[in-house]
Amino acid sequence: MEDFEERRISGLTIRIDRRTCICSDNCTKIALEIFEIDDESIVTFSDACPDINRDRLLEACSICPVDALIAIDEDGNQIVP
Ligand code: SF4
Repeated sequence: MEDFEERRISGLTIRIDRRTCICSDNCTKIALEIFEIDDESIVTFSDACPDINRDRLLEACSICPVDALIAIDEDGNQIVP
């Protein structure tokens, strides 16, 4: 698995820094459709990764205690963290 994973979800680019994730499980509780913990105990994207409510997606990224989840808007601006 790569150190970084990226998906386009709900109009945002979401990036996971897998080197930083400490498996606190916060993001998965808020956006179970998007994030899951893999067999290395690191967060990854779910297979489906559907578009979800954008505020909930941003909340799931923002709640990460180690800033392992990055959200970039349509204009290329990083809005989380
Ligand atoms: S909230 Fe951050 S540290 Fe916790 S599982 Fe998600 S990405 Fe990993």
